[in-house]
Amino acid sequence: MTPTDRIHRSVDVLVIGAGPAGLAVAARLAAAGVGRVEVLDREQRAGGIPRHCDHTGFGLRDLRRVMTGPDYARHHIAAAIRAGAVLRTGVTATGWAAPRTVDITGPTGLERITATAVVLATGARERPRSARLVPGTRPAGVYTTGQLQQAVLHHQSVGRRAVIVGAERVSYSAVATLRRAGAEVAAMVTDQPRHQTHPARHLGTRLRHGVPLITDATVAELTGRERLESVRLRHRDGRTAAIGCDTVVFTGDWIPEHELARSAGIALDPGTRGPATDAEFRTGEPGVFAVGNLLHPVETADVAALDGRFAAGPVLRHLAGVPWTPGPLPVRVEAPLLWISPNRLTPDGPRPPRGRFTLRTTRFLTRPVLTVSQDGRTLHRGRLASTAAPNRPFHLPADWIAGADAHGGPVRITAD
Ligand SMILES: Cc1cc2nc3c(=O)[nH]c(=O)nc-3n(C[C@H](O)[C@H](O)[C@H](O)COP(=O)(O)OP(=O)(O)OC[C@H]3O[C@@H](n4cnc5c(N)ncnc54)[C@H](O)[C@@H]3O)c2cc1C
Repeated sequence: MTPTDRIHRSVDVLVIGAGPAGLAVAARLAAAGVGRVEVLDREQRAGGIPRHCDHTGFGLRDLRRVMTGPDYARHHIAAAIRAGAVLRTGVTATGWAAPRTVDITGPTGLERITATAVVLATGARERPRSARLVPGTRPAGVYTTGQLQQAVLHHQSVGRRAVIVGAERVSYSAVATLRRAGAEVAAMVTDQPRHQTHPARHLGTRLRHGVPLITDATVAELTGRERLESVRLRHRDGRTAAIGCDTVVFTGDWIPEHELARSAGIALDPGTRGPATDAEFRTGEPGVFAVGNLLHPVETADVAALDGRFAAGPVLRHLAGVPWTPGPLPVRVEAPLLWISPNRLTPDGPRPPRGRFTLRTTRFLTRPVLTVSQDGRTLHRGRLASTAAPNRPFHLPADWIAGADAHGGPVRITAD
């Protein structure tokens, strides 16, 4: 079959990615009576990352209850199907034939789908060892948290003694997964001066599993021929030390799954590296929206699902023929801030969902003062009530946006 033999169909809304964000937007749109809402996922089963996370902690913000990852995924799948959305799995979106026309490949072969609205909900992934440029040999026993969870799900051996690189929320999930699989955790290692999760989670892990936390250290080298034998650490003062282990898990260090957005020529935000979007989840490409962790690598699953819910309104307005006028002003952060989402704004437009922007920092900032300015003019200045920690969200209220000049330069956010 040549590309021209593709079956070509049209739908009202094509959602790419059946994780919490994609399923939530599809459920809302189908429930609102949109004709054909089709959701694609390259995995054999819908549900996104929570499907592999056999621990509790999902759903508080969107469903007002706490469930395991698989139960949470099942809930969102059932809601989308019940509302009338069509879910298709084992189907990968591979590129664009034209704006809002997506080429896909799946069990029935090649297809081309044109949609009135396309919603990108492709999520984010942890950067693997190769992308982190860690020197040393290339033995077995090297994972990201996602790979570890998949291996455990498929009853593969994940070693007996592990080192976890990272000390953020997902790193603690990796500890729990390893312990359930019967492996000892020799240490958690972070380049930060302290952990970056909820203090109770850190304390619980320490007391329950006796896992030491090594701070201000990076991985200098992996050693081992066939299987990993040790991880050599470099401390901030230059000292190095080796820890014997047969498994290492690289956690966090997220990158959005932005390849599809990039191949459409959609502008990416330099901070998040996901599509630049405004408060209505609109990208720079007419009719193409983006939601979930593709926009903010990474928030929890319930935040991704809430994105999906909020995005349904703007998608409905687009389907009703409201002109495509995405926020003209870029919003940029300066170091040590890492990113802000959303990162485009319309001064007389709506505020972001829940009336606030979400940010990340690269280092701990004790009750920083956040300043918002445009062309040297201060639009907002306010002290954060708590410490801003790397790998954890903090928020900036959005009540200043009406003061920005739609024809001015970028809006800048600094932290002192
Ligand atoms: C190991 C781990 C543990 C976590 N633990 C928790 C936790 O305890 N609690 C919590 O709230 N959150 C947790 N999270 C975060 C949570 O899972 C994510 O925030 C959530 O899944 C994001 O939803 P999403 O819909 O944006 O993306 P995802 O869930 O990542 O879904 C994206 C989907 O898009 C599909 N896709 C991507 N590209 C294509 C393509 N080209 N064609 C077709 N399909 C495509 C993927 O297959 C995937 O199914 C964890 C994350 C990880 C990695």
